[in-house]
Amino acid sequence: MDFHLDSLLHLPFVTVLTCQQQEGFILLTLDFINEGISCPHCQTYTDNLHQIRPILVRDLSILGQGVYLKVPRRQFICSQCGKYPTEILNFIDRRRNYTKRYEEHIYEKVKELTVEQVSKNEQLSPEQVQNIFQRIAKQKKKDWGKPERLGLDEFSRQKGQGNLVTVLSNLDEGSLLEVIDSHKSEEIIEVLKQAPISIRENIKEVCVDMWGGFKKVITEVFPNALVVIDRFHVMKLVHKALNHLRLKLKLKGLKNRYLLLKNKVNLTEEEKKDLGELLRGYPCLSIAYELKEELRNIYENTRTVKEGLKKLKKWLRLARVFFGKTAETLELHLQNICNYFLNRTSNGVMEGLNNKIKLILRQSYGFSNFKFMREKLLACLFK
Ligand SMILES: [Zn+2]
Repeated sequence: MDFHLDSLLHLPFVTVLTCQQQEGFILLTLDFINEGISCPHCQTYTDNLHQIRPILVRDLSILGQGVYLKVPRRQFICSQCGKYPTEILNFIDRRRNYTKRYEEHIYEKVKELTVEQVSKNEQLSPEQVQNIFQRIAKQKKKDWGKPERLGLDEFSRQKGQGNLVTVLSNLDEGSLLEVIDSHKSEEIIEVLKQAPISIRENIKEVCVDMWGGFKKVITEVFPNALVVIDRFHVMKLVHKALNHLRLKLKLKGLKNRYLLLKNKVNLTEEEKKDLGELLRGYPCLSIAYELKEELRNIYENTRTVKEGLKKLKKWLRLARVFFGKTAETLELHLQNICNYFLNRTSNGVMEGLNNKIKLILRQSYGFSNFKFMREKLLACLFK
């Protein structure tokens, strides 16, 4: 029909016969330039046409309008082998109603937006969008490479409570490796053991929080790995204990909380003055605050595991008095906490990734389909 429309469409051996507007869509009727094909069974060339059955295929939108292609599916007769081969088209997979590039486009869109948004934009049903996404996601190869340091963490699927998923990440690359619909050690082990043993044996360190189940997982799945308790989880626990003390003293208000929990080195001169005034009448809180700062100092300035153990044991003597149960928990995990000082491995590199995980989990709230959620997380965050 028009040379420019052909080059705009940019499909091999294809020419546009007609272009019509129909029910809010553009319909392009196509024809093929090649007269025959090479028989896929015996490789003999044939142009002996048996029949044509046109199919309707969705393609990329043009100028904001959805596009359908009317594609003549041609079946030939091969005089050599006697078979009836149907022409193979490299821009549509067999039995699909979308071009490959359209499916790829939907896949990329779902990575950015929710299924509902894509469904609305593309005038597809949410099921169609999910179906395309999962199909393409399956085709993408996921090679773990040879990571040495991993992180294990858990997230709540519904903010606030329950429904925990476990997340495995590659700390060397800052990449997401696996998402498991469980927070039971047995079930986590079952999923992770599917990874090749050569990869699992290569892991040197796994960074986790203080949940007891992780230790079991690491022993079973990563036999050569050291357990490292994440530095930020330790600090979070101490912050919580300090904050608890503040509330017991009825020092309410977000500003008080902020002054106590923020790193001292990051406080402005005025904030330091305010903090001084806050602590003046409360010697207990004062000591607890200094303990929090001291722990941060230990983390910043310790170079070996042995040195860390020594400093933390000393720190715990006083911390036991002021932080009670929290200090007991830390004592229980002391060796693994100090494994941090070997290579300073922490889940800190995953912070940006973790925020994205939380966002996607929140977006897919109401989605009962875990499989889809997992594919989306991996599509967005696996490098
Ligand atoms: Zn043949």
